[in-house]
Amino acid sequence: MDFIAATEPMHLNHLLANFGYLVSVVMFMLAIMRMGRVKTARSGNFLAAAAMLLAVVSSFVEMGQIEPWYIVGGLVVGGAVGAIMAKKVQMTQMPEMVALLNGFGGLASTFVGLATFFSMGGSGTLGQMMREGGWFGGMNLVLTLIVGSVTFTGSVIAFLKLSEKMSGKPILLPGRHVLNGILLLVPLVLGVGAVWFVQGVPVIAAVLILIVLLTFVLGVTIVIPIGGGDMPVVISLLNSYSGIAAALAGFTINEPVLVVSGSLVGASGLILTQIMCKAMNRSLANVMFGGFGAEAPTGGGGGGEYVGVKSSDPESVAMILADAGNIVIVPGYGMAVAQAQHAVREMANILEEKGANIRYAVHPVAGRMPGHMNVLLAEANVPYEQLFEMDQINDDFRNVDVVLVIGANDTVNPSAKTDKSSPLYGMPVMNVEEARTVFTMKRSLGSGFAQVKNTLFECQNNYMVYGDARKTLEEIIKALKED
Ligand code: NDP
Repeated sequence: MDFIAATEPMHLNHLLANFGYLVSVVMFMLAIMRMGRVKTARSGNFLAAAAMLLAVVSSFVEMGQIEPWYIVGGLVVGGAVGAIMAKKVQMTQMPEMVALLNGFGGLASTFVGLATFFSMGGSGTLGQMMREGGWFGGMNLVLTLIVGSVTFTGSVIAFLKLSEKMSGKPILLPGRHVLNGILLLVPLVLGVGAVWFVQGVPVIAAVLILIVLLTFVLGVTIVIPIGGGDMPVVISLLNSYSGIAAALAGFTINEPVLVVSGSLVGASGLILTQIMCKAMNRSLANVMFGGFGAEAPTGGGGGGEYVGVKSSDPESVAMILADAGNIVIVPGYGMAVAQAQHAVREMANILEEKGANIRYAVHPVAGRMPGHMNVLLAEANVPYEQLFEMDQINDDFRNVDVVLVIGANDTVNPSAKTDKSSPLYGMPVMNVEEARTVFTMKRSLGSGFAQVKNTLFECQNNYMVYGDARKTLEEIIKALKED
């Protein structure tokens, strides 16, 4: 049975498909707009998924006659794998899952490029074989292979680093910049050869496969020198690459919706990369080529002994909190690790009942992915109006009675403001030390992502509350209830 009756006139299929493409493109744009706000992000996601479904169905309509079992089989197998992965993934594993998805996107573009060539036939150079576009189409196919393959292996390395299946430390190969230059230049030269000079399907096929293999290696050599902590930025960049690869694949197979959706992903990935670099006060070049984290920082910002650190316990914290009127909660990566967001909310509810004013201060790069804290706090139903971005609240810490730092470290490190030798120098941080009392909940005096000493721990008004953040909060809740 045909998916679309063969008797239907083709132009109707084209019309329907183009209409579907147009609607899906508008839906993609609206979805991205909705994803820009926490409140509407969930519906934005659903809208984007619906747009993707519409685009897929439209392209089947355009193709006309097609064996339905391929579609049903593909949808069932792909959908089941995606659903199982999404169900199993922990919130803290989200960046590595995104890395894998980007990689698959890149690999899909590579397959589209190769399949286009192998289904073409003909004679002469690649430029002459292309039914559409001539040399432009040929070069476009080559670029699809290059960008798609780099995205695939680069994303796999990012996944392995983030999931700690390989060391997160930067692996700095000698002469790596030259090696990467060669690994990029050679496939480009080979591509030019295939498009203009080399003739015949077998030889061109061999050249294209060589291009894929070389750029597979390039993806590895580009990403292994980058530290595990910088992987979220790299993933965002690879996300952008996967979009660019999809857009190129769209040109290759003359599929406008792929060009548009790929371009949207490419552009939004680049913007996100830029935002993350800015919030970390690092340039993209520094992230990509700096080998950040290869050695523990040495200067004043580096390790070093702590002097005069004071500590407290959950019962004492509960006593102080019970009398505090103005409380700010500053979450960080440790809250995600401890999955403490629900306990945070429960404690906040009790304190509100006691008359306290509770606010949450969210640093733009707290956690390990953009919006990490917002997502967790939203999961615990923290009211949006209690969430404050750093810029909105930073000048007000001096009026705050108690700050609870929950698993944050780098984002509350005052030395980022003063210590020029610190890798954090220049990164805007929360002015928590200006509050009357600060309680910092973490398991030890261990460093955060940037591996530097945190001078907050030595401040006169700071008290460390050691232990897993969730357990500490549960004990505070117990003490508050007994109060
Ligand atoms: P940090 O990574 O600086 O520190 C997290 C702290 O959490 C650790 O010091 C750790 O201390 C503590 N911790 C871990 N597990 C637990 C637990 N179970 N209970 C309590 N505490 C725990 O966190 P921040 O959120 O402050 O900063 C994020 C860092 O990540 C920044 O340097 C940022 O630049 C970087 N980054 C962020 C990205 C993003 O998009 N958000 C992207 C790339 C990098 P201990 O071991 O003592 O418990």
